[in-house]
Formats: sequence, structure tokens, C-alpha cells
Amino acid sequence: AVPVVAIDGPSASGKGTVAARVAEALGWHCLDSGSLYRLVALAAMRAGIALDDEAGVAAIAADLPARFENGLILLAGEDVSDAIRSETCSVGASKVAVLGQVREALLDRQRDYRIGPGLVAEGRDIGSVVFPDAGVKVFLTASAESRAERRYKQLMEKGMPANIQSLLKDLQERDARDAARPVAPLVKLPDAVLLDTTERSVDEAVAFVLDLVRA
Ligand code: C5P
Repeated sequence: AVPVVAIDGPSASGKGTVAARVAEALGWHCLDSGSLYRLVALAAMRAGIALDDEAGVAAIAADLPARFENGLILLAGEDVSDAIRSETCSVGASKVAVLGQVREALLDRQRDYRIGPGLVAEGRDIGSVVFPDAGVKVFLTASAESRAERRYKQLMEKGMPANIQSLLKDLQERDARDAARPVAPLVKLPDAVLLDTTERSVDEAVAFVLDLVRA
């Protein structure tokens, strides 16, 4: 089977950056599964569908007109790369992610990314649900304070106004929702290797994962 590296962990832990860099180093494909939940939330809000309307949101997820092209994320042809990173879409994504039918509707789409020579996929349930047979599973985390600080810096760099206290509160609420939901909760699996990046640079985290893959 095509090899998979599964990187799961809480919001703003650096999964996205680490996964992209590992994929680049290996020449493998990369899947940012969170962007799919963000796209579903954005598309549902635009269609005027309540985020707790399970059948309504699942219909959107099953038929999501999204494309990933040249580093851009397109929804019905429109570049929404920045829009899906807004706090509204972050909160919206974590709301639609509790719906079992929505998660189900996104499964095949995620599994389609498993093409040679290999895939690095990141999210919350990659190692548990999407690719339980992944050869390498990493649980990537960092303290809530350092995650809020990183997110704050990212937003400032983009010129988007932010408040560190409210970012911390949002992160903690989303983490609680991801961990407490009955379907595909975020957990550290027994067969996942813990990678805490509170005191580690991105370079160190990338090297750590590449060592696991090459071991
Ligand atoms: O990783 P990211 O912060 O972009 O994900 C946005 C939200 O999507 C998360 O808060 C989580 O609720 C949900 N998600 C999920 N399962 C995944 C990826 C993301 O439930 N595999």
C-alpha cells in the first residue's frame, strides 16, 4: 500500500507547517484535512444553512465544489485561502466537525489523496479513522499558551487584528469540542509518537518526523 504519515493534534500546534515540510522533503503528497472542514463551514454559511443542520451540512460536504491549485484553495472557483483561516471559519469548522454524516461525507475525498509515492496527512482523526493503517503516526502538540502566541504572530503578519487572550480562549474551546465529541474525538493513540513542540523549532519537529519515516 502507498505509505502514509498521519499527523494529528490540536489547533495551531504547527501540524500544517510540519506536514507540508515533511511532504516536501520526501517528495510526497500532502493533505490538510482541516481545510475541508473549514470549506464546508464556509460553504454552509454562504448557503444559509445552520451549522447544526446535520443533513443540510452533509449535503454540502458531499458535493463540495472545492479545488486545491497552485497553493490556493478555491471554492466554486473563488480563492478562499485567507477567508477559511478567519476565526468565524475556525469556529464554524469545529462545529460542523461534530456531525457524523459530515465526517462520513468527507472520508472518500481524503482517502483519494493516498497516491504514490506517499502521503503526509494532518488533522484530528487521520491515524484513528481516515488512515488507521498509516505506517507512522505522530501526535503533534504544544502548550495552549505557545499555540495561541504562534497563531497571534501569524495573524499579525497577515495584518489581521487579533487579541491573544481571546485567541487562547477560542483555542481552548475548540480543543475541548474536538476532544469531547462522540465521533472521531481527538486523542493521542497508543501507537502514535508524541511530539511536543513547545520547546522545539519547526526544523527540529520536521527532522524528528523524517527520522521516524526513515527508521
Ligand atoms: O486543523 P484545523 O484547525 O484547520 O481544523 C479546523 C477544525 O476542523 C478543527 O477545529 C476540527 O474541529 C476539525 N477537524 C476535524 N478533523 C480533522 C481535521 C479538522 O474534526 N481531521
